[in-house]
Parts: sequence; structure tokens; C-alpha cells
Amino acid sequence: MSPHRIRIDREESKVKDEDVIKTVEEVFDSFTNYHVYRLRNSLKAFKELRGAVSAGKEARVYWAKGWRGEDLAVKIYLTSSAEFRKSIKNYIAGDPRFPSVPSKFRDLVYLWARKEYGNLEDMAKAGVSVPAPVAVSGNVLVMRFLGENGLRAPLLVEAWRELEDEDVERMFNLLVDDIERMVCKARLVHGDLSEYNIMIWEGRPWIIDVAQAVSLDHPKSRELLERDLSNVFSFFSHRLDVSEKEESLRRSLEQ
Ligand code: ATP
Ligand code: MN
Repeated sequence: MSPHRIRIDREESKVKDEDVIKTVEEVFDSFTNYHVYRLRNSLKAFKELRGAVSAGKEARVYWAKGWRGEDLAVKIYLTSSAEFRKSIKNYIAGDPRFPSVPSKFRDLVYLWARKEYGNLEDMAKAGVSVPAPVAVSGNVLVMRFLGENGLRAPLLVEAWRELEDEDVERMFNLLVDDIERMVCKARLVHGDLSEYNIMIWEGRPWIIDVAQAVSLDHPKSRELLERDLSNVFSFFSHRLDVSEKEESLRRSLEQ
């Protein structure tokens, strides 16, 4: 099966056509509601929130419709997550783009959402396939939706068994080229790259979840890059001989 025809039964990602704004009001605090309304009414970033696509520990992702009928993804960072509180600081501290770490957790989360927006912009500019960022306000980020009719595209890990060997090889080559552009052109290290943060859509891999991406000047960037590379190469090595491509990528990253 060719990758653009991949359809995986993901009942959990199917969306009921209901008024989710109401749900959002019940679930989120008044600050978050303010940003959701601001994005809709003042910034015109989306028209209708449709339904939840993913509900994680740090963020919720919703499917939305734009004013021209386009599909959008709205990622809402939770300002109440305890784990999030601990992990977020390590990525901001040391990144020369953020000389000071906000003391209020809410402000830190806002910075985190803006950081994801900026990382998406810089990566897109460098030619990396990421969902195009549309707008950000507070802890709410709007970007292109990967998928259609509210059915999100499969993650690499979900599409893996359906992919033909030749598709696996093509995905791998496209991904390695994206990693090279991310590091050499955007000068960013993803920091959480794996088969769980790559989506397969329109016959190619898309890198998502880039809030934690740090600049190459960050003191931990080498360590994070090493972890990203070993995640990707060990995953693909189950179905491919990755050694040649790995060597050439490592050589070009050293320069
Ligand atoms: P979690 O705490 O759930 O792990 P996260 O911080 O990892 O959340 P993301 O990985 O960015 O957040 O998004 C969570 C999920 O939402 C993804 O695994 C994917 O299924 C879906 N998703 C994210 N971005 C998009 C998008 N642009 N289009 C469609 N689906 C998306
Ligand atoms: Mn993720």
C-alpha cells in the first residue's frame, strides 16, 4: 500500500461534530478561555473548534476549522501539570534565545507555547516538514492539521506495519534530510525525536511536537542530538541497513 493511502482505524481520534467550545470552557481555566476566544475573535486564527484529537499530560490537541474551511490543529498547554512544571525549566534555562526564566509557572507555559511557535517557524523556513504555524496566544497554539475530516494522520509508529519496505526506505531518507536541515540550517535540535513524534501524511514524514527543541548553542544540545539520532537510527534499523546514511549524516553534522 502506498503511504498516502494509509488508513488506520483510530476510533479514538474520530471526532463528534459537537460544540467543543463548551467543552473547552468546562475543562480549561479562564485565562485559557480568554486566549481561545482571542485567537478566534480578534486574531481570526480559526473559526470553529471541533473535537479532541489527543489528550496528553502536558497538552490537549483539538481539530478546528479555519475561516476558509481549512483544517487546523489547536494545541492547548495545560497550566496545571505538575510533571510539566519540572521538565520545562531545563530546556529554557541555558537556551541563549531565552536569557531569563519566568518565575510564574503560567508565564513559563506561555513562553513554552511561543517557543514551539518560533521553532515551527524556523524549521519551516529551513525546509523541514513541520505543520505550518498559524498563530499563538498565551498557552494556545494554532497550526496546520495533519489529516483530514478530523481524523489525524498516523504516527510513524502506527503506520509502521502498513508501510512497504520501499516506503520505509523513502521515509527514512526524507527524515534524515529533514534532520540535517533542522540542525545545519535552522540550528535547532528537536530533543524528543522518535517514532512517536513523527506523523505520516501526504506520503512523507512530518516532524511534530517541537516545543522542547533547543538551539545548537544550548549546553545540552549535543547530548539531546545524540539521543534523537540513536532513537531514529535504532527504530529504522529493524527494517533497513541504516549505516551508510547514518555515517554520512554524522559527517555533515560535524561540520
Ligand atoms: P502528550 O503529552 O500527549 O504526549 P505532546 O506534548 O506530545 O502531548 P504533541 O506530540 O505535539 O504533544 O501532540 C499530541 C498528539 O496530537 C500527537 O501525537 C498527534 O497524534 C496529535 N497532533 C499533534 N499535532 C498535530 C497536527 N498538527 N495535526 C494533527 N494531529 C496532531
Ligand atoms: Mn508528542
